[in-house]
Amino acid sequence: MLIVTSPTTFQPVLERIAEEIERTPGRGRPADYIPALAARDPRSFGMAVAEPDGTVYGVGDWRQPFSAQSITKVFTLALGLAREGDTLWEHVGREPSGNRFNSLVQLEYENGIPRNPFINAGALVVTDRLHTRTGDASGELLAFLRAESGNPELDFDTEVAVSESAHGDRNAALGHFMASYGNIDNPVPVLLEQYFRQCSIAASCADLALATTFLARHGIRADGTRLLSRSQAKQINAIMLTCGTYDAAGDFAYRVGLPGKSGVGGGVIAVVPGRCTLCVWSPGLDERGNSVAGVAALDRFTTLTGLSVF
Ligand code: GLU
Repeated sequence: MLIVTSPTTFQPVLERIAEEIERTPGRGRPADYIPALAARDPRSFGMAVAEPDGTVYGVGDWRQPFSAQSITKVFTLALGLAREGDTLWEHVGREPSGNRFNSLVQLEYENGIPRNPFINAGALVVTDRLHTRTGDASGELLAFLRAESGNPELDFDTEVAVSESAHGDRNAALGHFMASYGNIDNPVPVLLEQYFRQCSIAASCADLALATTFLARHGIRADGTRLLSRSQAKQINAIMLTCGTYDAAGDFAYRVGLPGKSGVGGGVIAVVPGRCTLCVWSPGLDERGNSVAGVAALDRFTTLTGLSVF
């Protein structure tokens, strides 16, 4: 049964989903390889929907900031593509990796070119190139997120950045390995600091749903200026669909049917091009690294509303 086909408000569907999630046992486990994330309560749940005009609806903990982590990779890709254009694709691919997000194995036999911009190796390349062009990749990202969300208080979470840096050997290995192939411009320690700051940004479901609306507006920012061409916005949505949810993008497409990007903080953003954006947060993850309640909530949203790209 579709309960919202042409909604004037998304509020009833969000409330129904929150009630269903509340009754669902089993929320997965928060990520513990970044110690500062391990203490999060897996029962937390928030969800927001933003419309292209900036109207935002929400339920549960939708205004509580959480660690955006890999969700930020969508925004650095957009900023990087806007600055650099297609030469970016000479340094990072656009195919699903079929490996874990922080895997090293493919890099050697693919000559230091990461499979896509959403695995850690690919995100490091994108941040590196953005840093070369701006002198402050994480600052550029933060300014963009503040402007698009309308929230000037968005900020880095230093405790999370320091915690990740202290346990960042794998990302350091990825950075140094790609540098050995000439695919990193900046000194690796400089790049890692930028990357950990980027991932540490704390933002709420409302903030991130609003910040994603440029993808629902086919590349147009909140102030009406164009960040990306319509075609580039389509390209980012396509990469989110095929590579945005770790090694479970096929299952996410099957269940949710939308471009999406998850992070190990338990957030997931999703786009209904031309119609709305979503962000859901619950810190308990499944074995692939996606929020258990988050994916379930998006699955219910597209089932109940019929809004999907298929
Ligand atoms: N900062 C995390 C890392 O590099 C991001 C991982 C994620 O959210 O997928 O491991």
